[in-house]
Amino acid sequence: MNVPLLDLKAQLAPIRAEVHAAVLEVIDSTQYIMGPKVEELESAIAKYSGVKHAIGLSSGTDALLIGLMALDIGPGDLVLTTPYSFFATAGAVARLNATPVFVDIDPKTYNICPDALRAWFEQNPDRASKVKAIIPVHLYGQCADMKPILELGREKGIPIIEDGAQAIGARYPLDGKVRSACSMAEMGCFSFFPSKNLGGAGDGGMIVCNDDTLAAKLRKLRTHGSQPKYYHSLIGGNFRLDPIQAVVLSVKLPHLESWHAARQKNAAYYDEHLNVTGLVKPAIAYERDFHIYNQYVISVPDRRDECRAFLNEKKIGNEVYYPVPFHMQECFAYLGYKPGQFPLSEYAAAHTIALPIYPELTPAMQDFVIAALAEFYG
Ligand SMILES: *Cc1c(COP(=O)(O)O)cnc(C)c1O
Repeated sequence: MNVPLLDLKAQLAPIRAEVHAAVLEVIDSTQYIMGPKVEELESAIAKYSGVKHAIGLSSGTDALLIGLMALDIGPGDLVLTTPYSFFATAGAVARLNATPVFVDIDPKTYNICPDALRAWFEQNPDRASKVKAIIPVHLYGQCADMKPILELGREKGIPIIEDGAQAIGARYPLDGKVRSACSMAEMGCFSFFPSKNLGGAGDGGMIVCNDDTLAAKLRKLRTHGSQPKYYHSLIGGNFRLDPIQAVVLSVKLPHLESWHAARQKNAAYYDEHLNVTGLVKPAIAYERDFHIYNQYVISVPDRRDECRAFLNEKKIGNEVYYPVPFHMQECFAYLGYKPGQFPLSEYAAAHTIALPIYPELTPAMQDFVIAALAEFYG
């Protein structure tokens, strides 16, 4: 049996005609940059996530970049984040010549550890005033533990940018309310990379916020810092979302909740049936359906790479997110970190495997994955 890690053709099949019609409508309209289709998606995402402003962008990476630019982050500034995420989280900081500073993860959720974050300030009183932002990542589709992070941010006067690239629609219990990923902090970033729960037919992203002044600045930065056209008060970039991507995403958005539910159902199936000694299933930190399972990531006791080769041989899709933590990346050697400095991230990088979890996966396919893991570790 062939069980891919993700099957976008299966996702497209039931909405194919609608997607085609929407794309052709944009092509025939000749409105290829910005316009009503982008604005429609922005309003829909703002409503979906419970935020006031949503600004369509070229990618999730550019969302992080523009968020940091809006805070005027640059040389000499520090930005605290996790060492265990997709490269863009730290890359955006470094591209602005600011310094990414890493704080280890909670080994249960793989998200940044709020206690370690607080401890960093206690251990680095001389550097604390240089911290200009904190970027928690909602890794794999489950929110980072935002309450203590937001409290720390407020206490120190440091803005928080949520990296919700993998977590659109994930939820978090905050002060007796249920909040949506990216609606809790100063800014939140989404990615519409095709493999995310809401993915376009190419690159796309969005930044969301509740502050009017900040939203106006982000909108300006999106188009070279100009307002009106050709009058530049800021140095921005070309960070626009294409209307072709916007319409594909608008067709998909009404299905997103049912896709999340199908992923949650598949996760519950693995949780119940994947019982292999030593193998650790993903932790549910809050309510079960607050996690949108962009990835279902297990931790294996040993022989991770041999296990992956075994799965590959059986045509079972799998991946490692991510094999090298930021502090051990070649391009960040200049930051001066050493192996062993973030042992929990290093452990995760060496022991985790992402399994197929996409909505259209069948129980028979999941049984095949489960049997293969039981065979390997049995
Ligand atoms: C996908 C992703 C990004 C970057 O998004 P792109 O749209 O691919 O640029 C950033 N952060 C995390 C955690 C991601 O998973």
